Amino acid sequence: MAWKRFLQLLKKERFYPTSCPSCGHQKEEQMPTDACQYFYQCQQCDVILKPKPGDCCVFCSYGTVPCPPIQEDKSCCR
Ligand SMILES: [Zn+2]
Repeated sequence: MAWKRFLQLLKKERFYPTSCPSCGHQKEEQMPTDACQYFYQCQQCDVILKPKPGDCCVFCSYGTVPCPPIQEDKSCCR
């Protein structure tokens, strides 16, 4: 499955594209593979993003792929 391969590549590089819901600014953010990032500040409009309800981290809510613990079917850092 090509999607899984894509995730593996991302996991290796640990860069996760996130898009700001406020201004649409997109940036590739590096994230740790063993922890979640709960807050994320957009570098364009300075809005502080928090995860949507039910999501464990900003990468699950605003990134294009879920965070590594979710990818590995582990429960996240909650
Ligand atoms: Zn923004």
